[in-house]
Amino acid sequence: MPGAATLLRDVFGFDAFRPGQEDIVTAVSRGENVLAIMPTGGGKSLCFQLPALMRDGVTVVISPLIALMRDQVRALREAGVEAGALTSGNTDEETAAVWDALEAGRLKLLYIAPERLAAGSAMGMLRRIGISLIAVDEAHCVSQWGHDFRPDYLRIGELRRALNVPLAAFTATADAETQAEIVEKLFDGQPPQSFLRGFDRPNIHLAFAPKDSPRRQIMEFAAARKGQSGIVYCGTRAKTESLARALCEGGHNACHYHGGMEAGDRRIVESRFNSEDGLIVVATVAFGMGVDKPDIRWVAHADLPKSIEAYYQEIGRAGRDGAPAETLTLFGPDDIRLRRSQIDEGLAPPERRMADHGRLNALLGLAEALECRRTTLLGYFGEQAEPCGNCDLCDTPPETFDGTQPVRKALSAILRTDERFGAGHLIDILIGNETDKVCARGHDQLPTFGVGRDLERRTWQGVFRQMMGHDLVRPDPDRHGALRMTEAARPILRDEQSITLRRDTLVSKSRRPAARA
Ligand code: ADP
Ligand code: ZN
Repeated sequence: MPGAATLLRDVFGFDAFRPGQEDIVTAVSRGENVLAIMPTGGGKSLCFQLPALMRDGVTVVISPLIALMRDQVRALREAGVEAGALTSGNTDEETAAVWDALEAGRLKLLYIAPERLAAGSAMGMLRRIGISLIAVDEAHCVSQWGHDFRPDYLRIGELRRALNVPLAAFTATADAETQAEIVEKLFDGQPPQSFLRGFDRPNIHLAFAPKDSPRRQIMEFAAARKGQSGIVYCGTRAKTESLARALCEGGHNACHYHGGMEAGDRRIVESRFNSEDGLIVVATVAFGMGVDKPDIRWVAHADLPKSIEAYYQEIGRAGRDGAPAETLTLFGPDDIRLRRSQIDEGLAPPERRMADHGRLNALLGLAEALECRRTTLLGYFGEQAEPCGNCDLCDTPPETFDGTQPVRKALSAILRTDERFGAGHLIDILIGNETDKVCARGHDQLPTFGVGRDLERRTWQGVFRQMMGHDLVRPDPDRHGALRMTEAARPILRDEQSITLRRDTLVSKSRRPAARA
């Protein structure tokens, strides 16, 4: 059976777990009784769908929401997983097909509406077919005092006792009384393994910086933390090797790690990292699964991660001991271009590609955030949080300016040149730079020529990067470097919406390492 990370990628198409998912998946797939409280939108369904694939036999999923069950069954089937639902919304043929698949032992997940449990035949059937796990969605429906009480949920405890299999209960309702009632009614009062805490890692300092001269930025960051264990994530294998060499030349104890190395060499790096103090590993994302080191003091990204989930997972390797840990993520227009083209050129179906662009947008929104990073990050995962006091934006609130007019000028330059040019040429037009290319194309005759003289080239570069970050413009997949306007930019172009941009701080102020707790 493939491992969780492989299934996550191959079946569900995700590159990383969301906060909390990995621990819950591990516990559920081991067959423990589990109660997990996750915010809505946090990604609960994966926490029973993935273990269902790792375990023998059928997983029964009980949910009160028929439309949602049908959605999940359809999505699972599209991903090649045998799933079916028994609900009142079924046609007779659908029900017959589910029974056939069950009898033939083909089904991995059986979704069932709670009222079905009342029918004696269903109980008998479930006993016969080799159920290995019960997953209960919206578990708070068992609470007699709650708004969503479903009397049929009271039968679930009975089902668990009859089948004598592990049960995993999920809900977004976190109050203590409801939890106690769930434990009482679903687990007969035997406390399950609980995942109740929020997913914040408050000891990790969060910081992003526009890529200026990446090697120098990483070297400075590492130099300020000399002797501490850290990871530098890079986008390519070649870069891990050259950056590790540079760090060694800078007097650090560093080595590289990537998927192209011999398995034996990779093991050596992993075990050195786990046992030595103060080693820096410069790695691709291949580094991480085999790493179990509680006192990693920092994680830096020399290139932008793939998605907000990948970002969270990678920085989450720091500071597992709870002591202060620091992170720095560098990002620039080239990263955005690369990530967009990886999505566009991938083989994923259109809906999945759209979702991937959305997850990249979320990360870019975090990179260009104007207020507390943690509030933004946790908000994306459905958790509310106050400004944290432990991120670069809380440390030093960014200087901002009204970017509406510069963005409109930039969009106009893009449209007047038929969306055929990249930022460099567009900036030449905006600041009235009579380059050969500008003159040869007659772009010095455009009404936009020179309308952006009031800003410096560097400022314009920041404006273009932020336009990409806010998904107002996207690189044209068919024309290298060219930028096209997106629908999101239209209200700004029409002056119906304004936009606030941050002024880039050009000197990267390296923070002093936090005092050890
Ligand atoms: P809920 O917790 O509200 O039941 P869902 O299970 O429906 O949430 O998941 C919410 C969204 O998050 C879905 O669109 C799902 O595809 C997405 N999602 C879940 N896990 C991941 C992951 N590891 N990486 C990226 N997206 C994910
Ligand atoms: Zn903060």
